Amino acid sequence: MIDFHCHLDLYEDPLVVLTQAVEYRCYMLAVTTTPLAWAGTRRLVGGAPRVQVGLGLHPELVASRHREVELLCSMVPDAKYVGEIGLDGSRPHRGSLALQKEVFASVLQACVDTGGRIMTIHSRGAATEVLDALEAHPGAGIPVLHWFSGTQSELARADMLGCWFSVGPTMLRSKKGRQLAAAMPRDRVLTETDGPFTRRGRSPLMPWDVLEAERLLGEIWGTSQAGARRHLLSNLRRLVDAGD
Ligand code: MN
Repeated sequence: MIDFHCHLDLYEDPLVVLTQAVEYRCYMLAVTTTPLAWAGTRRLVGGAPRVQVGLGLHPELVASRHREVELLCSMVPDAKYVGEIGLDGSRPHRGSLALQKEVFASVLQACVDTGGRIMTIHSRGAATEVLDALEAHPGAGIPVLHWFSGTQSELARADMLGCWFSVGPTMLRSKKGRQLAAAMPRDRVLTETDGPFTRRGRSPLMPWDVLEAERLLGEIWGTSQAGARRHLLSNLRRLVDAGD
């Protein structure tokens, strides 16, 4: 199983979650929301198998932490995975969208300068703006759009630009999310939780809750959960190889 976008460092007890995820043999990309959290999360993860850490600056934090963009860009050469990065155009964050665009462009340029990176990208309320920025930085690497919630035509454009997608149980519980997932190129889809920000009842989703996403993708693809899992793992292998 694969959780390609979770905030391991933001769980109440990250070490317990890490240990259990390793027991489940879960492939995990632990994203971070600030460049300083990247070093700390790497220390936490240590040599845990199948776990990678993304170097990020979350768009919701850009208004208060944009000064950290230079630090982040200086660290990009040391990071195979970059994220969480992107843009948020929803009402609470629309005011900083111009600043977010500047920061996002700087990070994408840093990725171009280092030969491209695998990126996990937030695009809530700003899918078109995210795609514009990706189109303007063609050498930035491989974009994985996490929890994509744009329109079908924005999805078609993302597909044309070669974007990948990571989808989680929360997205797949809604009709719109399932319709988007059905239209995604099957060979560029991964699973994620976005935990601990996503919940089932009162508890945050855990990395191994991607099992539910495997099952729902299996329904969408007309295959078993095991078949969906095999397909997702072969996608991940191809992505990782392409990022080398
Ligand atoms: Mn996230």
